[in-house]
Amino acid sequence: MAPKKGLLQRLDEGVVIGDGGFVFALEKRGYVKAGPWTPEATVQYPDAVRGLHREFLRAGSDVMQAFTFYASDDKLSNRGNESSAKYTCRGINDAACRLAREVAEEGDGLVAGGLSQTPTYLSGMSKADTQKEFQKQVDVFVENKVDFLIAEYFEHVEEMEWAIESCLKSGLPVVASMCIGPEGDLHGITVEECAVRMAKAGAHVVGINCHFDPFVTLEGLKKMKAALDAAGLKVHLIAQPLAFHTPDAQKQGFIDLPEFPFGLEPRICTRWDMHRYAREAYDLGVRYIGGCCGFEAYHIRAVAEELAKERGKLPAGSEKHEQWAGGLRMHTKPWVRARAGRQYWENLRPSSGRPFSAAMSKPDAWGVTAGDASLKQKKDATTEEELTNLAKSCKVANGK
Ligand SMILES: [Zn+2]
Repeated sequence: MAPKKGLLQRLDEGVVIGDGGFVFALEKRGYVKAGPWTPEATVQYPDAVRGLHREFLRAGSDVMQAFTFYASDDKLSNRGNESSAKYTCRGINDAACRLAREVAEEGDGLVAGGLSQTPTYLSGMSKADTQKEFQKQVDVFVENKVDFLIAEYFEHVEEMEWAIESCLKSGLPVVASMCIGPEGDLHGITVEECAVRMAKAGAHVVGINCHFDPFVTLEGLKKMKAALDAAGLKVHLIAQPLAFHTPDAQKQGFIDLPEFPFGLEPRICTRWDMHRYAREAYDLGVRYIGGCCGFEAYHIRAVAEELAKERGKLPAGSEKHEQWAGGLRMHTKPWVRARAGRQYWENLRPSSGRPFSAAMSKPDAWGVTAGDASLKQKKDATTEEELTNLAKSCKVANGK
């Protein structure tokens, strides 16, 4: 068998489809704890992680992103999370790489190792301290011969530059993706400058993941692209947005919406939203197109189906699925048969079924960021007293 093409060659030649957000998907299936969002499931429940990789591969993902989100030692031991810390950064990352590789080899998939923002940085600690956390993960990725690295979910471009520097030491292609929107990073740096700084730091692919819906994310990417073009910087673009609509989110994104994380369901994007997302991303010039929190395999399948012509293939998961609902022609009821076509689904405005729900919410907007005492890394669990004090500042808890 010919060796697999690498990430950069694939991006030069066409589209690379990413996968979805594993912490959100596996939390719903009962294998990840909401709150710490750490990936010890790679050791505890390998079948669940393997199964999710397989679903995405079947749906058209070209990348099996090792489930290493938040798997740095400082995050694993943050705020009373000892039950995860015992599996260690090394143990969790190593297991994640093996699982991703196993499934990638069942198809033409690439394996990526991922780094994300650290409590060490949020605590205002030094570059050396922060990079020490990154290096421990990068070492495991290199030992496992992953195909490339993704530094993702950074909300401060300074920490991102430090992550890119750590990743580049591996000699592997580096993808850099911030969880920011059109308003820029949490230290007031514009989205344009973030893009330019990521490219100048040496990342091969730059862009945005998480925190905002596909269309807000593409607004941010449009600005990134303009700035990169103006600076003459040639890099590929990545989009891995949420599968939740967030037109009302502000700078901090969806974690700031009152529905985060347990009441987001009314905001879920349909597969038809994902067809539109894939087309608009492609037309903008984005070539690494995937998803983050809220994305399930069927969302990725919609991306793969929208771009079937460009990719010259349909995913295996389309075997039971005729893209624009052609299978509905077999439905018993005539009014459902009438819905078998693109026009119906593109014109539909789905109802929420919640007569007392508003279309938009008000973000909490506490405005705390790196260096704030309330964000500091600490091993002790949150006390009842601390919780009572936090609840006093919470509008919804007080019936407002
Ligand atoms: Zn996410």
